[in-house]
Amino acid sequence: MTTMTVLEERDRLGVRPGKLFIDGKWVDAGGGSTWEQVNPATNEVVTTFAVASARDVDEAVKAARRAFDEGPWPRMNAKDRKAILQRLVSLIDDHADELNRLQTLENGMPIAFSSMSVVSSSMAAGIFDHHAGWIDKITGSTYPSYEPAPTGADVQVMTFREPVGVVAAIIPWNAPMMLFAQKVAPALATGCTVVLKPSEYAVLTSLRLSELIAEAGVPDGVFNMVPGPGDPTGDALINHPGIDKVTFTGSRGVGQRILQASSNRITRVTLELGGKSPSIVFEDAQSVAGAAMVAMGMVSMGVSGQGCVCQTRSLVQRSVYDEFLEAASSLTKAVSYGDPFDPSTTSAAIINQRQLDRVLGFIERAPTEGARLVVGGGRPGGDLDKGNFVNPTLFADVDQTMSVARDEVFGPVLVAMPFEDEDDALRIANDTEYGLGAGVYTTNIAKGMRMARAIRAGTVGINEYTVMPNAPFGGFKASGLGREGGWDSIEAFTETKAVILGLAG
Ligand code: NAD
Repeated sequence: MTTMTVLEERDRLGVRPGKLFIDGKWVDAGGGSTWEQVNPATNEVVTTFAVASARDVDEAVKAARRAFDEGPWPRMNAKDRKAILQRLVSLIDDHADELNRLQTLENGMPIAFSSMSVVSSSMAAGIFDHHAGWIDKITGSTYPSYEPAPTGADVQVMTFREPVGVVAAIIPWNAPMMLFAQKVAPALATGCTVVLKPSEYAVLTSLRLSELIAEAGVPDGVFNMVPGPGDPTGDALINHPGIDKVTFTGSRGVGQRILQASSNRITRVTLELGGKSPSIVFEDAQSVAGAAMVAMGMVSMGVSGQGCVCQTRSLVQRSVYDEFLEAASSLTKAVSYGDPFDPSTTSAAIINQRQLDRVLGFIERAPTEGARLVVGGGRPGGDLDKGNFVNPTLFADVDQTMSVARDEVFGPVLVAMPFEDEDDALRIANDTEYGLGAGVYTTNIAKGMRMARAIRAGTVGINEYTVMPNAPFGGFKASGLGREGGWDSIEAFTETKAVILGLAG
């Protein structure tokens, strides 16, 4: 194992204790409480930050409220607002290496993955760029009059899309830069103002992106950032009467709390929650081994299965089942743990002790429910156990009654189950409370399309599986509510107003 460079990187990147960003100023937390954030690869402290109290959240929401009700941002012409967001895109690109390293420092993601993948700063810049492009294209509609108005006058009906207002954005730790962008970009593009709460397990990129937002010229109060855990910070934010919308990415349980809180004042809500996404591998797939590597790669490399859209259930046609298992298990030989700043490291540690215990619990329980362990299980041992590493694990002969097949594990665990035909595959694929993503592997395009239409999930990939900054993203069923990305984001962050103009006189 190479020497861990986590603390050296912290010093090199000049990480300072984090503060709150309210009304254009960096301020200390009123309550005086702080949080130590550790890197899960070593469990060393990488930063301390001030926890925003309920009073601090109140200040942040009031600043965002003032900026929305009285400030220039919602009223700014499209060209100027677009120029500010485009400046932000350039700033993110200029600081790409620093941002990618901060992301590795905050959540232990291997640097190669943080720099190159869909969670890198370049994806965040792409999301801001995409939404900047919408700013001068947000249009309404016109409608003919249906019948004369009560006065007998002819009328012209038209619609406007207006910013929804003050947005509370709450993000998790696993893809912090990309999810920061997915929330903040459409909010700013549509003229909303924002109070963002990053995860207490990943504040560093949010702190730096907040500085870049100010540097780009976003007016004071339009963007505010309040770090802290669910209690007290998150709870204060979702229950604050000054917010108009909550956009949230995270676990199902917190999503339910947000829905309950929103019912008081009918606050708008977008929820991006968990998943148990299937990959469906037919015997006529172009490469069964390739499909196996995609699924096993997602759970054993990069974020090590700690991603909402990872293909964690592999449904494989029986005739190619053994071939799939062999390819999936052989990939685990390429997994390399250790120093997250070593470019050859492939895989992340589990984010915290609570989640580590949960993942190991699934691995211990699965054989007792009848699953067959093909490879992995347990922890690597030795010095690596100073970090929260878990061996990449493959279970075969799993069925839908087992908890490892039904629940989101959020760790390096893949389950495989055989199917007989298209109907059988579809039945198993849809037998889940979730509906975030699905992958279909076949060279029969008509069959691929039939599956894509019948699978109840927000994103279906046929022979490809990725996330694009300009495509709508979200879930069916318990995977969420609403979509973000593309025009769907513009709808999600605006209200439609119908204006009726009397044509008499
Ligand atoms: P989490 O729900 O524990 O935390 C997410 C955020 O919610 C954090 O900022 C946390 O501090 C905050 N929070 C916690 N309690 C709160 C409360 N009472 N009120 C307000 N905010 C509160 O989730 P996590 O462990 O950080 O992330 C993992 C989960 O996120 C998984 O379920 C994963 O599938 C999901 N996820 C979904 C997507 C998606 O786009 N669908 C993307 C990434 C992660």
